[in-house]
Amino acid sequence: MLQQTQVATVIPYYETFMLRFPSVTALANSPVDEVLHLWTGLGYYARARNLHKAAQQIRDVHSGEFPTTFDEVIALPGIGRSTAAAVLSLSLNQAYAIMDGNVKRVLTRYMAIEGWPGSKKIEDRLWVDAQELKPLCESEGKVSLVNGQARYGDYTQAIMDLGATVCTRSKPKCDHCPMQSRCLAFAQGKQAEFPFKKPKKQIPTKYTTMLIPSYAGQVLMQQRPPTGIWGGLWGFLETGFDPQFKKTTDEALAILCDSLGSVNTADAQIRELDTFKHTFSHFHLMIKAVLIELKEPPVNVVAEAVNADFDDVTTNQIWFDSYNPSKIGLSAPTMKILDILKNDF
Ligand code: SF4
Repeated sequence: MLQQTQVATVIPYYETFMLRFPSVTALANSPVDEVLHLWTGLGYYARARNLHKAAQQIRDVHSGEFPTTFDEVIALPGIGRSTAAAVLSLSLNQAYAIMDGNVKRVLTRYMAIEGWPGSKKIEDRLWVDAQELKPLCESEGKVSLVNGQARYGDYTQAIMDLGATVCTRSKPKCDHCPMQSRCLAFAQGKQAEFPFKKPKKQIPTKYTTMLIPSYAGQVLMQQRPPTGIWGGLWGFLETGFDPQFKKTTDEALAILCDSLGSVNTADAQIRELDTFKHTFSHFHLMIKAVLIELKEPPVNVVAEAVNADFDDVTTNQIWFDSYNPSKIGLSAPTMKILDILKNDF
């Protein structure tokens, strides 16, 4: 949860999550819809899906026990090199170096490394430096041994804390830094220049129209494919990417009719909501939502009116009641639209 999200935001989600899933098997045995539901609002939903898959892998492959070798840990969905290293060095004092944002900042300053640390070339170099800077193991020459062991876990915690509390993004507290005497950026008075910023790149804007058939105070939703944007979450039907909203509302309705089979939009009340923007890391998405108030429900739609538990859902379409919402995972734009529509029902 803490990857990409701040501690203060995470705490209530974490507490609810741990109450509901107190063990790895409890998590593994739960439907992914429930996991996504408890993640709703945190964003970056791939984390939740991977966490759930990893729990199932731990249950099925490792008899419910978290694995203890690097190859096994990194094979778990959602766990990369740095996370595997953090888990193993902190929990088992194994000799692995980590590389998160804080560590990148400390190392680029300490060694005055030029270039954007997100680029492959600089990141590869940082990994080599990080691995060399961690405490040496016995074969490499002894340092800082406690009970005969190098303190890999302490080193990992220390470099993360140094980045979070001393070598901070702005105004690093160099006068209190234990690395000051060897820090090249400090020696050159260039702390503020490191790490180098990401070269500016314009991110593209895409457009989509969301179609919201409503009937008797409920709105029709469908579940998205398990991978890709908002994978596994529930949302409205979409027309697909549509440069500059070139499709007219009538064309959008034709897509809806195609998608839902027999749906009578002849007497439907149609209302376009105000367009709004949702920003992902790699593009902006302009969203136009069209509310289609049907006089009769679509004949061929096997949608379930669910209002309690995700367990009730057996199709990928539901009639969703925002006053008595189902416990399903929703994207931020879907929640925003539901909030706007509350006044309509
Ligand atoms: S001396 Fe300053 S810039 Fe260098 S590592 Fe310490 S806090 Fe960061």
